[in-house]
Amino acid sequence: MKTLLFTSSLLLINCSANKALDQKNSTNPNTQVFTLPVDTPKIEVDENYLLGQFDPATHPDFMPIEQQHTTKSSAYLRKDTYAAFVNMHNAAKKDGITLLIVSATRNFYAQKGIWESKWTGSTIVSGKNLAKEVKDTIERAKYILLYSSMPGTSRHHWGTDIDINNLNDNYFLSGQGKKEYEWLTAHAHEYGFCQPYSKKGTDRETGYEEEKWHWSYMPVSGQLIQQYEAKITYARIKGFKGSGTGKVIDVIKNYVLGIAGKCK
Ligand SMILES: [Zn+2]
Repeated sequence: MKTLLFTSSLLLINCSANKALDQKNSTNPNTQVFTLPVDTPKIEVDENYLLGQFDPATHPDFMPIEQQHTTKSSAYLRKDTYAAFVNMHNAAKKDGITLLIVSATRNFYAQKGIWESKWTGSTIVSGKNLAKEVKDTIERAKYILLYSSMPGTSRHHWGTDIDINNLNDNYFLSGQGKKEYEWLTAHAHEYGFCQPYSKKGTDRETGYEEEKWHWSYMPVSGQLIQQYEAKITYARIKGFKGSGTGKVIDVIKNYVLGIAGKCK
């Protein structure tokens, strides 16, 4: 990424995101200018990581998000991703834009809870009890997949992806929400962030509906998606209700890889 921001005095230092966060912790986070790595190191993770089968609260590459940056009482991100977010947050603030994380890392078990709640009808989806009204399991999975990932296939597993400010498309169509989205589309790339679930069309033909709130830290997630494509097979997409539909729907090709071209 050539577009990340640096302070000139620190350009010669091989800064890491961790150092950036150490600086942050020692000074006022609202005024501190953060630094990001000149070149993001090569990151190699195992299959369990890609599938979200770990606890971000105890993983050494993760840290808790400060309360001032999130609406959640407890949330975690990769340290490199969080450093980049704080940089972006502070820049946005200067332009009168507040960016808050409404969802961050969700591991396999958190995603399983969301998925199975919709699968069994405990959570009503767009006015429907899917267990009662959509008996065909393939169709039921596709219905949930409009907005929710199958466990093991979510970018939120990786600690690189965040949902910002609101989970409804309408929010971003007018008023402050529109201004926030316009700021993100103009500036998020300067901090390494990209909107993977862009408007569907020629650039992105398959996958989830557009998510204006979902942003991904590309210096890391760009590496992880390549590893996911290389390592994960349908034998590993299991351990939740309706998991057999994954292969039939080809969720890896159509959803995991169904992202905006500029986010690859
Ligand atoms: Zn999201």
